[in-house]
Amino acid sequence: MQYISTRGAAPALTFEQAMLTGLARDGGLYVPETVPTMNEGEIAALAGLPYEEIAFRVMRPFIGETFTDDEFKALIAKAYAGFGHDARAPLKQLGPNHFLLELFHGPTLAFKDFAMQLIGQLFQASLSRSGDRVTIVGATSGDTGSAAIEAFRGLKNVDVFILFPHGRVSEVQRRQMTTPADANVHALAVDGDFDTCQGLLKDMFNDFDFRDRVRLAGVNSINWARVLAQVVYYFSAATSLGAPHRAVDFTVPTGNFGDIFAGYIAKTMGLPIGKLVVATNQNDILHRCLTTGVYQTESVLPSISPSMDIQVSSNFERVLFDAYGRDGRAVAQLMDELKGTGKFTVSQGALQSLQDTFESGRVSEEGTSASIKRTLAHSAELLCPHSAVGVAVAENHLGANPMVTLATAHPAKFPAAVEEATGIHPALPPRMGDLFDRPERVTRMPGDLKALEALILERTGA
Ligand SMILES: *Cc1c(COP(=O)(O)O)cnc(C)c1O
Repeated sequence: MQYISTRGAAPALTFEQAMLTGLARDGGLYVPETVPTMNEGEIAALAGLPYEEIAFRVMRPFIGETFTDDEFKALIAKAYAGFGHDARAPLKQLGPNHFLLELFHGPTLAFKDFAMQLIGQLFQASLSRSGDRVTIVGATSGDTGSAAIEAFRGLKNVDVFILFPHGRVSEVQRRQMTTPADANVHALAVDGDFDTCQGLLKDMFNDFDFRDRVRLAGVNSINWARVLAQVVYYFSAATSLGAPHRAVDFTVPTGNFGDIFAGYIAKTMGLPIGKLVVATNQNDILHRCLTTGVYQTESVLPSISPSMDIQVSSNFERVLFDAYGRDGRAVAQLMDELKGTGKFTVSQGALQSLQDTFESGRVSEEGTSASIKRTLAHSAELLCPHSAVGVAVAENHLGANPMVTLATAHPAKFPAAVEEATGIHPALPPRMGDLFDRPERVTRMPGDLKALEALILERTGA
């Protein structure tokens, strides 16, 4: 199993190399050369199995020779052992044919734990085998950073630096990043928004001297291993609801197009997914692009669903690669255009292909609040604002198939928005009760590449 770059000009890599690298050297993202498929019998056999077993069967064909079956099973078991729910990704019913997939029972209460906990195990296993050391740098709108820190804290062969936009993450998110006391954890509050942080990260990866010197590794949602881990819960949810004998629809609250891209991979593997619905907040570049074909960045509007306050949606490049018939040169051209002019227009053929797979919707701030309130009244579920965006869009796309909306975070991660909508202050699960008592450790940084690189060199001694 080989991985190739969406821009067609970087060397093909194994799963292990792609995982440790993150971004390709031509600026592209790694995707499998061919996506393995599962037949109807193999998919039917997943129904009712433990989450870990489904994870093993779905991911095994993608990892090649990187781990033996026994090693891989043991790493999966360790990754999900810290979750607060035996089902890992339980389904709840919201209405007659509408279900909520709760992805917030991991250690930092957001779906990112599914991928990050696994990646932590995979990195550790791979690095302790080779004796190498890496520097992980991540940019976060809030949840990736805490999930990464939780997954990598205390590991011997890894330093982890997380850039988050100063003042633009919730207090729970910030504390999850600033309170771990481990010496290999570095939380950096950057002046700017999420796109500033993500831009700095990309520039750092394109500074090859620096990249090689600190052995830079990326764990943002551009890392293929993260996408892969997220494919699993599409299978667990759909087979619980009758797949492969009937099709299931999914609605996914989206910013960076990572989670929904995992659904697209599940569908490509053979899982009968009907609609894949992209749900955005007022930062609606994906909704605009899927309806008009014009991908145009605007300035980020801070919202009550901050983990989706994104204008440059990195993983969209992966689906564009397929929509353009896997023509890396065409993708590279679009991305150059985006960098130069802040926009590009998808070709008619590619847009048609995207619209064959994806539907989309956008929810205003008021609509998000109303969705939290309505879902509590009608289904006795307290949603986080991101999940509420998903539910609101899903309600406009209900059809004959069961609809599954992904609940991406626990409501207690965004208490202000939830309380504003419902009057209820959502409590943190007891295992996190002392979060507000722990001391914080954070470095404030300008949005400046050279300053950042200097700090990383100093802290790692590279
Ligand atoms: C990261 C995140 C999202 C967006 O996920 P993408 O993979 O970037 O599309 C949605 N909701 C929450 C709570 C998140 O943390």
